[in-house]
Parts: sequence; C-alpha cells; structure tokens
Amino acid sequence: DVPKRSLWQRVKDIVRTDVSVLFKGVDEGSLEALETLLIESDFGVPTSLALVAEVERRHKRGEVKTEAEFRQALADGVANALRTGNADPAMAMAASGPTVLLVIGVNGAGKTTFIGKLAAQYRAQGKRVLVGAADTFRAGAIDQLRVWAERSGAEFVGGKPGSDPASVAYDAVDAGIARNMDLIIVDTAGRLHTSDDLMTELRKMHRVIGKRMPEAPHEILLVLDGTIGQNALSQARTFSSAVPVTGVVVTKLDGTAKGGIVVAVHEALNVPIKYVGVGEQVGDLEPFDADVYAKELVE
Ligand code: GDP
Repeated sequence: DVPKRSLWQRVKDIVRTDVSVLFKGVDEGSLEALETLLIESDFGVPTSLALVAEVERRHKRGEVKTEAEFRQALADGVANALRTGNADPAMAMAASGPTVLLVIGVNGAGKTTFIGKLAAQYRAQGKRVLVGAADTFRAGAIDQLRVWAERSGAEFVGGKPGSDPASVAYDAVDAGIARNMDLIIVDTAGRLHTSDDLMTELRKMHRVIGKRMPEAPHEILLVLDGTIGQNALSQARTFSSAVPVTGVVVTKLDGTAKGGIVVAVHEALNVPIKYVGVGEQVGDLEPFDADVYAKELVE
C-alpha cells in the first residue's frame, strides 16, 4: 500500500521547485508524470485526464505560474468533479415517521463500524436510533453491532443466526415505527463469495422494507474500503446493479494517500459521497464536503 502522504506531497516530488517544468514535456516532472500519479492515486483514467487538462488550460491562460496556482488548479478540478451530477451529501429524511437507512457493502469494508459511528452521531444530537442486525450469516457481526448500539444508547433488533435477513429487516422497521424512532439503520450481510445470492437477498430486503413503509428505505448507503483501489469500483457496480444505491461511504481514508477513489466512485455511479471514515474510533466519521476534501488533498 502507498504510505500515508498527501497527494500534494507526492505531486511536489514531480514539480520540485519550478512549476514550469510541468509544461516543458520532459519525462521527469511533466504533465504525463502528473497524469500517472493521479491514475496511481485511484482517480481513474477519465478523471486524471480531465484534471491534467484543466491544469494545462489554466496554464495556457497564464493562470498557473506559481506553486500556489498549480495547487489551486488541482484542488478546483477535484472539487468540481465531486460537485458534478448527483452530488448532494445531505441525508434524505422521512417526511414523517422514522428515516430508514439500508447499509450495504462487502465484509471488512467497515459497515459495522460506520453504523456504530453514525448511530453515535445521531444519538449525540438527541435522536432516537434503532439499529437492525440483518447479517444473520455471521453471529459475530450481530454481537459486534449490538456492542456498538449499546455503547451509543441506540436500540437494537437482531435476528437469530441463520434466520431470514429480510424478516429481520422488516422487524427492525416495524419495531422502529412502533417505538417512535427518528432513525432506523439496517445492517446487511456482505459475504462476497456468494455474490449472486447476496444480491438476491439485498433485493428482497429492499422490497420487504418497502412493504412495511412504502417510502423506505430513504437511503441505501454503500460502504467501500478506500484502500482497495479499483476493486472498490467493481464492488460499487455490482451492488448498484442489485439495489438503487443513493449514497456512498468511503472508509479507511486515514490509511491511504490514494484518495482519488472518492472521485472515481462518484463519477462511476453518479451518486453523492455522504461520509468518509478516517479511523476506527467512534468520532472518526466526517460528513462529506467536496471543498474540504479537495483542499486536504493538496495540503
Ligand atoms: P464490516 O465487516 O463491513 O462490518 O467491517 P467492520 O466495521 O467490522 O470493519 C472492518 C475493520 O476495519 C475493523 O477492524 C475496523 O476497525 C476497521 N475500520 C472501519 N472503518 C475504518 C476507518 O475509517 N479507518 C480505519 N483505519 N479502520 C477502519
């Protein structure tokens, strides 16, 4: 894995002290080297080309002569990419009754941790939160989620290991309505080796939740591990072909300098990035902000 150095620190290795080397077309320190670095940082080929083109365009207009201007050109390009299309990071809210979130993603992506952190954030705002553990495939997953829920004072509905995940999801929504919750967060299974079965199961859960509350789920959030590079893109495509993903959570961004995956996933799915995970602790979850994200990349 790439060590945790900011994108900007790595770009600086190319530019060194003189931004003008970028535009001279020499091998070291050329726009091509910048393009390669962006691709290596998981921005994906189309976005990397677009970012380089933006830098070049501004240079031709005489706007990229100093390091600060170069930095700004890159940050603006990233922020613009993240603001294009379906990009509102705000969470959808139910018009009345509880808001229902369905959280999907492969095992190990950080679903449970995300749900625990999110439940804690809403609890801290005084909201009533219920967490439903519908990953009945792994007993450990149910226990882990119960611990997170108890820690933040969220209510918990969990199925027995081996029981039908869709019926657990239904029960969680039913209990959340009966108990007058503000937010219901439903966890799902993420076993990858049987992805066909998993996608069928997710479709069924989606359908069954809608039977109990027609406008639910209000959000389907896909959790992706930010350190796995382009694999995150293929996971994103698989999951969004099964259910209508409304937002993406990228985790483990504290462990990688290849933050370009955030941009690549947004562009591939045309859905907003809603949160980023930046550590294992309860406070390590940030609502997504394109400008802040772009600025941090060039710090
Ligand atoms: P799940 O299988 O998708 O539910 O994944 P978990 O929530 O159990 O997370 C898998 C591992 O990743 C655990 O060791 C978590 O502590 C860790 N993890 C989750 N989110 C983050 C994050 O944002 N940063 C870091 N460094 N680790 C994380």
